[in-house]
This record gives sequence, structure tokens and C-alpha cells, in this order.
Amino acid sequence: MLKINRISARIAGITVLRRIETDFEAGALLAVVGRNGAGKTTLLRAIMGLLPLQEGSIHFAGQDLASVPAHGRAALGIGYAPEDRVMFPTLSVEENLRLPCDVLGLSRPEIDRRLQKAVEVVPQLKEMLPRSGAALSGGQGKIAALGRALMAGTRLVLLDEPFQGLAPVLATQYGESLRRLREIDSQVCVVVTESNRSLLRDLPDATLMLERGELAANGEQALAH
Ligand code: ATP
Repeated sequence: MLKINRISARIAGITVLRRIETDFEAGALLAVVGRNGAGKTTLLRAIMGLLPLQEGSIHFAGQDLASVPAHGRAALGIGYAPEDRVMFPTLSVEENLRLPCDVLGLSRPEIDRRLQKAVEVVPQLKEMLPRSGAALSGGQGKIAALGRALMAGTRLVLLDEPFQGLAPVLATQYGESLRRLREIDSQVCVVVTESNRSLLRDLPDATLMLERGELAANGEQALAH
């Protein structure tokens, strides 16, 4: 489903990803772990098309993404929840969730269907939807951002350090939502980054370990699960 073939990327002239490769099937949950600055966010941005590759390629559902810009990747069913982007404060949570689909020009019934599925996966959304984006706590914003990533991410969901800073009860609910997502949709792929891998518990099917932009020496072993 997602094949990352020896990709490298630079930011400001510095190589921040070096020959990263992995390949995983529909329905898999991949953890990308590593210390701060290891390149986890950069890898997600590269998959989303927000950063040009220096070398290598990314294939998704058999298609080379080289010529597909970020909005085109969202149209292919890739959703992204950046680490620091919470809800737009001047919109309701529901408007925040509908926004990525509005931008994609999806039909109203399709957006309604996706919203219903997001609420099924993340039941806490039901109570949040009418509220202003500004009214959510940081942790609630992260839960809502999972819902928003699901609105575009019908086939692949990229989640950047979702567990960081979450209170234990919210972290448990977040993990339950990821499990529910995979029960409801056995084909969806999820990539979750985390610097503290113990927070992921037994969620990942495979783990990719990054060290200073490279696959760690035991990165291949870590892929076995
Ligand atoms: P964190 O847990 O801190 O988010 P990370 O593993 O996600 O870490 P990245 O954010 O991908 O790491 O950063 C990888 C490297 O790229 C780091 O050395 C970082 O300093 C550098 N970097 C990232 N963004 C920029 C930028 N806009 N300008 C300069 N350097 C950057």
C-alpha cells in the first residue's frame, strides 16, 4: 500500500532524511520512533508531499507520488494530523472537520458519511462538534485533530506525535480510537510517530526506528513484529 524507496530530503542545505525505506500493506499500523530531531516529522511531511525529495520515491496504492502535490495526495485518501496544528479557533469543531473535504470539493452526502464514520471512530467528537475550536483544551484538540485527519485519510492516516502531552485518560481513548478505526476499516493504514515508544503500547504492527535522519542500525529488526 505504501512503499518508501530509499528517500532522502534536505532542509536548508542539511540532509535530514537519508535513504529511508519501508514497505507496508493495507491495514497496517506503522510506528516511526526516534528522539527529537530524528526526522519523524520530516518523514510524514515527505509522505504528504510538503517537502521535496532529494532522491528515492514514494509509491502509494501502486502510484508514484512524485508528481502528486499535497492536495492531490489528500484527494487520494491521505490524511495528516501535524503535531502542533490544533483546530482553527474561529470555526466550530464540525466546520474544522468538514474543511479538508470542502477543499477537496467532495459532495455533501460524502462529507456527511465521512463525518459519521469519524464520530464512530472518535465518539468524543459528538459532544465537541458544535463547540468552537477555541474552546477545546490542548488534549481535546488532538482528539479532534484525529477526527479531522480521518475526514481526508480514508486510506492512509499520518499522525505526528499524537500521544505527546495527552493526559493518560485521553491517551487511552486515543489508542482505543485507533483500534476501533482498524476494526471498522481493515484496509486503512496508519503511520504514528512517537519519541516515547512505550506510549504506543501494543498498537504498532511494525516499528521504524530513526536516528539522525537514518534508519537505526537495528531499524530492519525493528520492522519485524
Ligand atoms: P521532534 O520530535 O522534535 O518533532 P522529529 O523527529 O520530528 O523531532 P524533525 O522535526 O523531522 O524531527 O527534524 C529533523 C531535523 O530537521 C532536525 O535536525 C531539525 O532541526 C531539522 N529541521 C526541521 N525543520 C527545519 C526547518 N524548518 N529549518 C531547519 N531545520 C529544520
